[in-house]
Amino acid sequence: MSDVSPAKSSTEASPKNWEVKSKEVPTGSEGPVPPVVQFKDVSKEFHRGKDRFLALENVTFVVENLPDCGEFVCLLGPSGCGKSTLLRLIAGLEPHFPPSSGEVLVSGRPVLGPGADRAMVFQDYTSYPNRTVLKNVEFGLEIQGKPRAERRDIAKSWIAKVGLQGHENKYPYELSGGMKQRVAIARTLAVRPSIVLMDEPFGALDPETRYSMQELLIQLWKEMQSTVFFVTHSITEAAYLGDRVYLMNGPPGRLLEEIKLPRPEESPLEVESRADFREVVALLKSKIHSPKAAGS
Ligand code: ADP
Ligand code: MG
Repeated sequence: MSDVSPAKSSTEASPKNWEVKSKEVPTGSEGPVPPVVQFKDVSKEFHRGKDRFLALENVTFVVENLPDCGEFVCLLGPSGCGKSTLLRLIAGLEPHFPPSSGEVLVSGRPVLGPGADRAMVFQDYTSYPNRTVLKNVEFGLEIQGKPRAERRDIAKSWIAKVGLQGHENKYPYELSGGMKQRVAIARTLAVRPSIVLMDEPFGALDPETRYSMQELLIQLWKEMQSTVFFVTHSITEAAYLGDRVYLMNGPPGRLLEEIKLPRPEESPLEVESRADFREVVALLKSKIHSPKAAGS
C-alpha cells in the first residue's frame, strides 16, 4: 500500500482569525450513526490496451453524519487527479464504479450502483432539451411517482428559490449558462437527495455569474442540510464553499490532506477582500504547489 498520510500544515501558516484545522485523513471511525460517506483504501484502475492506469490509489476518508446538518466537502486538485472518478464512485456510475479494490460505503452500506439518495450536477448543462424549465425540474419528481399537482408545486417553489420565476415555460436553448445551471440545481435539489454530488458545476460560467451561483448554492444548502461533494480546481471557490477541503494530486489520484475551514458570512466577492480569507487561499495554494503535492 502506498503512503497516503498527509503532510501536517505548519501552524505559522494558519491565519490568525480563522481556525484552520488540518489533520491526517482518518482511517475510519465507527460511531452509533454510520458515516455519510466512507472510502476504505479505494483504488481505481483503468486499462488502456495492455497498459494499466491508476486513476485513484488507496483513497481513505470518512465524512461523518453530523446531527441536523450536512457538510460541504470540496475536492480540490489539478486536472486528471481523480476528482470526477471519486465523485462517480460515490454516485455508483460506470465506468468509474465499481472500484478495482477497496470499499465505498454510503450511510454505512456498500454502494451497489446509483440510488435516489445521491444526485449529481455536472459541468455541462444537463437539462433535457425538449422539456421546459418547469418540466425539467419536475423530472426527478415524476420518477419518484409524485402526483402531478404536488410535483408542480414543488417544482415551482424550487424554480422560485433559484430565481427563475417567469422562465417556467422556456426551453433550455433559450437560457444562459447560469440559468441552465440554476435549472440543474433546482432539478437536483427538488428530489431532496441526502448527498449532492457536483462536478465543477460552475466551471464554465463567467466570474460574476459564478459568484452569484456560489452564494445561491450556500443559501440553498443551509436549508437542505444535505452533504455536498463539490469538485473544483479553483482554490478560492474551495476556500469559500468548503467546510472541509480534500486536497488531491495525481495521477495516480491520491488524497493528500483534509483541511477544515470556517464558513464565511460574507458574499464571495466581499470575502475576497478579507485578509484572513486571502491567507486561507494562500495556505491552500502553498499546499497544492508544495513538492509533496507535486509528487517529487
Ligand atoms: P479529474 O476529474 O480530477 O480531472 P478524472 O477522475 O476525470 O480526473 O480522471 C483521472 C484519470 O483517470 C485521468 O488521467 C483520466 O484520463 C483517467 N480516466 C478517467 N476516466 C477514464 C475512463 N473511463 N477510461 C480510462 N481512463 C479514465
Ligand atoms: Mg473531472
